[in-house]
Amino acid sequence: MVSFRKVTKRYGSLVVLDSLDLDVAEGEMVTIIGPSGSGKTTVLRTLMTLDSINDGVIYVDGEPLTHMSDGTKLVPANQRHLRKMRSKIGMCFQHFHLFPHMTALENCMEGPVNVLGLSKKEARERSEELLRMVGMADKRDQHPSRLSGGQQQRVAIARALAMRPKVMLFDEVTSALDPEVIGEVTGVIKKLVSEHNLTMLMVTHQMGFARQISDRVSFFYKGRIEEQGTPDELFGDPKKERTQQFLSAVR
Ligand code: ATP
Repeated sequence: MVSFRKVTKRYGSLVVLDSLDLDVAEGEMVTIIGPSGSGKTTVLRTLMTLDSINDGVIYVDGEPLTHMSDGTKLVPANQRHLRKMRSKIGMCFQHFHLFPHMTALENCMEGPVNVLGLSKKEARERSEELLRMVGMADKRDQHPSRLSGGQQQRVAIARALAMRPKVMLFDEVTSALDPEVIGEVTGVIKKLVSEHNLTMLMVTHQMGFARQISDRVSFFYKGRIEEQGTPDELFGDPKKERTQQFLSAVR
């Protein structure tokens, strides 16, 4: 569903992604872990086309993300292609980025109405169902300022899902939360894994959560995958010295 092929991203002389190859299969939950600055968030940002890449190709759902074929070779994509590709990807950030002047329900309906062109009735039904799924149905008429961090993050997840993305990205979605509400959000993500079979790519510093939830864990080091495997392989029996050092430092 997602493939990075020899993707390089640089900021000046700093190489952030270094000829990266990364795959996420349909229905798979892949978690990226690694030291600060190893390029984890950049992977998600390039997938959202928030950051451009210098080299290589990213494929989503079988098509190049930012390029299209002119019959013989790949050329930079036009706006129509970019819009289509962006609609396949949903993202939740560390800070929830909800619209402050809209209620929880209005936040969820905004994209389906204005981007997908759904009727208000359809968008409302879809949004209400998702707010129920994340346990926020009773708060649907509240504005974000009246919600706790955990509640805002659950609304942000519902809002991203309302666009029916093929791939969901989670970037340290529990980092800004108080410890006592982290479980609300991880619980929703667990539910997505067990009941909805969504394709997901997550960056987290919570090793216990990564171990519980992932199909595969990729350990990043200097913009490359240093080691990857099932959670039991990577956490239980890491092979590379750098992985061992990182895991012993964070545990
Ligand atoms: P963390 O765990 O601290 O969030 P990360 O692995 O997610 O780290 P990235 O956010 O992907 O790391 O950043 C990788 C590197 O790219 C870092 O050294 C960062 O300083 C650098 N970087 C990110 N964005 C920019 C930018 N806009 N301009 C210059 N350098 C940047």
